[in-house]
Amino acid sequence: MDQSYANNRDFTQASLAEAGAILTIDLSAVRENYRLLKSRLGNARCAGVVKADSYGLGAAQVAQALMKEGCDTFFVAHVGEGLALRAVLGRGAAIYILNGTTPGAEVEAAAAGLTTVANSLEQLAAWRETARAVGRRLPVALQVDSGMSRLGMMPSEVETLAGDASLLDGLDVKLVMSHLACADEPEHPANAAQKEAFDRLRAMLPATPASLANSSGIFLGADYHYDLARPGAALYGINPTPGHANPMRAVVQLDAKVIQTRTLDKNTGIGYGHTFRTAGPLRAATISLGYADGWHRRAAAGAYFNGVRLPFIGRVSMDSIIIDISALPEGALKAGDLVELIGSHQAVDDVAGHAGTIGYEVLTGLGHRFHRIYQDG
Ligand SMILES: *Cc1c(COP(=O)(O)O)cnc(C)c1O
Repeated sequence: MDQSYANNRDFTQASLAEAGAILTIDLSAVRENYRLLKSRLGNARCAGVVKADSYGLGAAQVAQALMKEGCDTFFVAHVGEGLALRAVLGRGAAIYILNGTTPGAEVEAAAAGLTTVANSLEQLAAWRETARAVGRRLPVALQVDSGMSRLGMMPSEVETLAGDASLLDGLDVKLVMSHLACADEPEHPANAAQKEAFDRLRAMLPATPASLANSSGIFLGADYHYDLARPGAALYGINPTPGHANPMRAVVQLDAKVIQTRTLDKNTGIGYGHTFRTAGPLRAATISLGYADGWHRRAAAGAYFNGVRLPFIGRVSMDSIIIDISALPEGALKAGDLVELIGSHQAVDDVAGHAGTIGYEVLTGLGHRFHRIYQDG
């Protein structure tokens, strides 16, 4: 085996020529979305949530684009994500670890200047112990559970904390935060209940900047903005106001290459399980994208070519999908041509609807075989 060749290959870096599909990420749209969210926030600051590699779109690229807009506060979920982001951004930005530090990872997190989110007295104790061990004050965010029952200190823990100042020894509390369970349902009574609980809990803690709103929370109004908002999805073009027109710009385009085309007779079985049979003669194309690329097997959508919808037929395979191209003039679509899977004709949220899921899952599920193009300008 040619070692130099083997050493140079990276499964996530397909060239345009090799790739079956192309993922285009519009960083200027991310930046525009950031500006729009900021404009809704008035005096509150706007962070960028770039966990899970910026919802699959590339944390390094997205965070750098947001920094150009003046964003200096980022949220990731894991310490490892924070370390990687620190290496890209340098010391200028605050990086919060939403899930908190994990046992054994605290010293490295502290050395990289990461701010842990203490979700429990136990996580807080570990961070306090780390501050003692490294011999300097460490930044911390306190997350309180205002009613989502996922992460954050329970009211009883907040009371304990309020009654014993030594529990914050060696720590600089930068932020008190909580997370909304139902922000995408503005009429849901949980929103107001969580806001009330948040106000009650944070009143027991040292006076520090507060943060409650995710993307949808920003659209609940100024009462929910506090000092810092934490949008993720809306930056990436997901609609933060389901049921209403999407105020955000689309960020992602996904195009797949045609591998081959064929003309089929009446009553021909198509794909695994022959779940589709031709009712009459039909022209089909097979495109180079499948469930291994994060396209949900259940998302029986369509592809688009020159604005014409080309429905999927048969089952989605691991690496390919068969589409009906009979609506196009014969010869109009050839091997090597690109069809659109996500873009101006079919938004991320539409694909999610076809799959019975949410845009968040579609984006974070996008695979690693695409040729990726970052546009900015
Ligand atoms: C993921 C997350 C966000 C961002 O939520 P979006 O709905 O993507 O805007 C904000 N805060 C916390 C705690 C999160 O886990």
